[in-house]
Amino acid sequence: MSKDYEVIVIGAGPAGYHAAIRCSQLGLNTACINKMVDDSGSPVLGGTCLNWGCIPSKALLDASHKYVEASSVFGDIGIQVTGIKADVPKMIERKREVVSQLTKGVEGLFSGNGVKNLPGSGKLLASCQVEYESLAGEKKTLHSDYVILASGSVPVSIPPAPIDGDAIVDSTGALEFQATPKRMGVIGAGVIGLELGSVWSRLGSEVVILEALNEFLPSTDGRVSKDLFRILKKQGLDIRLGTRVIATEVKGKGAKKTVSVTYEKDGEENKIEFDKLIVAVGRRPYTEGLLSPDSGVNLDERGFLFVNDICATDAPNVYAVGDVVRGPQLAHKGMEEGIMVAERIAGKKPLVNYDVVPSVIYTHPEVAWVGKTEEQLKAAGESYNVGSFPYAANGRALAAHENEGFIKILSDAESDRILGVHVLGAQASEIIAQAVISMEFSATAEDLGLIMFAHPSLSEGMHEAALGTAGHAIHMINKRARKG
Ligand code: FAD
Ligand code: NAD
Repeated sequence: MSKDYEVIVIGAGPAGYHAAIRCSQLGLNTACINKMVDDSGSPVLGGTCLNWGCIPSKALLDASHKYVEASSVFGDIGIQVTGIKADVPKMIERKREVVSQLTKGVEGLFSGNGVKNLPGSGKLLASCQVEYESLAGEKKTLHSDYVILASGSVPVSIPPAPIDGDAIVDSTGALEFQATPKRMGVIGAGVIGLELGSVWSRLGSEVVILEALNEFLPSTDGRVSKDLFRILKKQGLDIRLGTRVIATEVKGKGAKKTVSVTYEKDGEENKIEFDKLIVAVGRRPYTEGLLSPDSGVNLDERGFLFVNDICATDAPNVYAVGDVVRGPQLAHKGMEEGIMVAERIAGKKPLVNYDVVPSVIYTHPEVAWVGKTEEQLKAAGESYNVGSFPYAANGRALAAHENEGFIKILSDAESDRILGVHVLGAQASEIIAQAVISMEFSATAEDLGLIMFAHPSLSEGMHEAALGTAGHAIHMINKRARKG
């Protein structure tokens, strides 16, 4: 039977659009079905990442950080400014412009690479057939050699705090406030809670974050989480650990709406009032309407599409990538999976190195890490050396008024191979790329110590931390290299 396409991708978030573009580059006749639409009902590419995730949140993080710098840092470095005012509607408008520029960019990349853009929804049927329903509601069955599922994820909701899209919102709603809420609550001190909590706190909101766990960011390096907690508290974020939200009640109407939150902490019931409440307790895989009962694709016990290490599902020639499958819910992880699958379909044999996936939290200072934490190495009984270098001893950091944080390198005590790198500090998201490259190429701490770094630069902290693993950092007094 003649096929409509060689590859059909369902979902045009970062995982899906990377897969589709790479398939086309490799000469495969490719279509991408995507159902996301904007406020006006027009189809948009780029998924959560470009429309409601990575990019819009960073636009607001960067704008709000600049506002803080202008209003409370510039004076310290000799720039007097008066009349500083946060124009929230303008920030939101600019954020939308950035999003629109990027989503249109993906449209251009699709047409330039020959990917057929099919707005609407896709459902996988048996034998690589896909039911395509256009946005106008017309249905047809498409036949393909391969299918890549990339339907992404959606926010988790919790019964005590139902989203009403107004007083109680998820991350999407929290990117659209037209004015700074006077009092803002956040449920969940995870990545979204800290990033969006920071945005609105910087713009003047009194922010309280209610976190169920007793530990703050338990999967990050212990010293990073301890220092970040202290820094964020100093910035005004009131993070209450070990709290369980029991109930919420929305009171009042229109602009006067408030949310009363009842939560339990240390066995006691407390009440707190907010003007807006953000629920940020994680994201779940999105598979609604994606699979017919005979598709052959199975789910795992947590509702993710079940795949093996090369993202193949249980159905022949059907792959799944991105947030809808196991692993960190990060745009770059999905992008790499999308490219890997495209290349495998084209007969190549790449793999994704899941041991070297960088993570970043875009607070200020930023947090970034890759590889193992010291706590994980200790728990595994591994022997390791630690080198840690403070921003406060880095000339460029001081010159730039960015003296908070440190860079920490963990290396194997025997082989000296770098096992993990943890950065708390300005531009951590950029600096971590050096660690990723080093680990991808199996570099040792000594290798990093032998490489020349531009002076003055924040990256010199990597060099010093690497030297520090052997006890000979130059710009600090070394404790003896610690053995695990
Ligand atoms: P998605 O981006 O969710 O895209 C899935 C697409 O598939 C959507 O367009 C959806 O409409 C479409 N779709 C679903 N089902 C169907 C169907 N049946 N038919 C057709 N189309 C369908 N990650 C980072 O790495 N860095 C960050 O800084 C970062 N910041 C974030 C900030 C926020 C506020 C949020 C919410 C997330 C953030 N993330 C970040 C996470 C990141 O957005 C996701 O990991 C990423 O978008 C997942 O990509 P994906 O392609 O798997 O899915
Ligand atoms: P998360 O998993 O990072 O954090 C959720 C937090 O909510 C956790 O600390 C959890 O203990 C807490 N929690 C869960 N249930 C709770 C409850 N009932 N009451 C109080 N606290 C509760 O999830 P998120 O912040 O929603 O982010 C979702 C995903 O989006 C993340 O996995 C992340 O990978 C991705 N993301 C990434 C970035 C980035 O890379 N910078 C930014 C934003 C989002």
